[in-house]
Amino acid sequence: MTIYMGVEDLCRLVEQVGVEPFILGIADRIESDFRRWEAFDKAPRYASHSPDGVIELMPAADRARFSFKYVNGHPKNTKLGLQTVAAFGVLANVDTGYPVLLSEMTLLTALRTAATSALAARYLARRNSRTMAIIGLGAQSEFQAIGFRAMLGIERLQVWDVDPAATAKFRVNLADQGFEIVAAASAPEAVLGADVVTTVTADKAQATILSDNMIGAGIHINAVGGDCPGKTELAPAILSRGTVFVEYPEQTRIEGEIQQMPADFPVTELWRVFVGEAAGRRTADEITIFDSVGFGIEDFSALSYLHELIEGREDLRRLDLIVEPNDPRDLFSLVARRRTVQQQAA
Ligand code: NAD
Repeated sequence: MTIYMGVEDLCRLVEQVGVEPFILGIADRIESDFRRWEAFDKAPRYASHSPDGVIELMPAADRARFSFKYVNGHPKNTKLGLQTVAAFGVLANVDTGYPVLLSEMTLLTALRTAATSALAARYLARRNSRTMAIIGLGAQSEFQAIGFRAMLGIERLQVWDVDPAATAKFRVNLADQGFEIVAAASAPEAVLGADVVTTVTADKAQATILSDNMIGAGIHINAVGGDCPGKTELAPAILSRGTVFVEYPEQTRIEGEIQQMPADFPVTELWRVFVGEAAGRRTADEITIFDSVGFGIEDFSALSYLHELIEGREDLRRLDLIVEPNDPRDLFSLVARRRTVQQQAA
């Protein structure tokens, strides 16, 4: 039987563990999984595009476990009362191919995206960073704030969203979290004086959320919202001035901010920074950019962390996702038995 973590189950677990420890737990897993990069089967995600959005499959596997996530990206969805990003995923055993866990992954994606962003920033942002600007205060935003406080010590948030209702929601959600929150009147105002800038807007367009003149020396940019062909947030000039770090170049060149740049535009892979093969931030004045698009190994890490937390628990729901006939070769018995019962009843 496959363990099933529905929305309610995961919410309860995250409440028990705490949002911050949960993000830290996933970040630990991501860091150790990225450090054994060569042990994974990797592929850019499969993406099916339509005028309103994208539906994607994100796989990853090592020798013991295989995972995939089904995820969409539909910026118009919030107007319909639906999530821009909704997801579920599976963790399976490689030795039998059997799924061990089927989980909701909308919430898990927000937690793992915050974990990846904050982890990257620990290597790339200035050590004494205390102020973060967040542009885009939707579903991902509070998780980003909490992740950055836990891993970087961010205390002050300068925030901007085109929709005042999003700003109000953000303030209410983080009211008891001890942040100093300053609502700006524009994106340039939010960025002014920030050590870190997180862009996490949703628009299926080549938007310019950050223009070149907004970015001063030493800033770390955590560019999360541009994650699809034709969907970017940064002016290309910023990418030319900074050092760009990516998860998996083969995927980021299609989906990330660097889709705006030539195919040989230089980037540094995060895993190489984590293992010490490549430098992270080199000087206090350097502009560092994490061109985040989300990668399958991060979902693998999140599902593995989740599975470790719940393994052995008796109180979880289980699904009969895979048949269990008495004789594995006698699959037909499952329908034959039903037919006999139906015939007897008739
Ligand atoms: P969401 O729709 O819940 O929130 C997006 C917010 O951005 C909204 O509040 C909207 O008003 C605001 N916004 C839109 N245009 C803006 C602009 N020009 N200036 C300021 N604010 C603006 O979406 P979400 O779930 O928070 O996701 C945000 C983005 O992050 C999406 O594009 C999504 O695809 C992406 N994402 C990336 C990753 C990753 O791993 N890189 C993971 C999850 C989501």
